[in-house]
Amino acid sequence: MRERGHLTGFYIDALAGTDIALWDVVGKAIGKPVHKIAGGRYREEILLYAGIGGTDPAKVAEAAEEHVGYGYQALKLHLLLDAEGVAEICRAVRQRVGPGIMLMVDTHMRQTVSSSIRLGRELEKLNFTWLEAPIIPDDIPGQAEITRALDMAVAIGEWTRTRYEMREQFERRAYDILMHDIARTGITEGHRIATLADTYNIPVAPHVGGGGILSVAATVEWSASCPNFMIMEHAPHANAMKSRILKEPYEPENGYYKVTDRPGLGVEVDEVALETYAFPGS
Ligand SMILES: [Mg+2]
Repeated sequence: MRERGHLTGFYIDALAGTDIALWDVVGKAIGKPVHKIAGGRYREEILLYAGIGGTDPAKVAEAAEEHVGYGYQALKLHLLLDAEGVAEICRAVRQRVGPGIMLMVDTHMRQTVSSSIRLGRELEKLNFTWLEAPIIPDDIPGQAEITRALDMAVAIGEWTRTRYEMREQFERRAYDILMHDIARTGITEGHRIATLADTYNIPVAPHVGGGGILSVAATVEWSASCPNFMIMEHAPHANAMKSRILKEPYEPENGYYKVTDRPGLGVEVDEVALETYAFPGS
């Protein structure tokens, strides 16, 4: 569909879904986990960060403490406020969880170049690990300017699906950490992208966001086989609901997914349960 102008978006998502399904089929046919056949096992467990959000400093700090209680050593705050509002919540969270917890913030493109730099300088004092999606991803020079101005890392990438889209961003050093979404790139292209990123010394923190349980399982398998993997996104509260289409629950422990020898993606879809969530006529 390139001739129709579709270089990314739903068309690539459809290819990505097919790619993931084929890796699962091959893995299950030969009794090997996807990570073993897609590059090898680089680690025994996948470090996760839990995503939390809100607008009230005390409530977000409370949610942060709750997630540390579940065993997460890393948290990401989704904060859709102005720079001062974001900084205020970040201060409250750092104060509550202490210096030992890894903290990140995602501002969902709500900032400008100047407010991003102002905010980043505040976050540096609080030892935040990355500032995510400060501005729209299409403004590559703007991202590069923010990344250059700050000592802390800038993280972007959930919207881009192919290495062709990302090459210019890497070359211009528009960000420090890449976060492509394996359910949008597929496992095959996801690895090609990570390899290209690695040549620019860029680690990968794969995005999962609201992705379903097959997206979670595919990202775990992919992360196990990615040399420059850093940390994976996770949504603790949504996971049980996502898992309702599986025969067995698929849960992490103490902030990590264990890398297993289960074949394919390591999960089995319960077709009957899946049917109950299908749209009529689909
Ligand atoms: Mg994000």
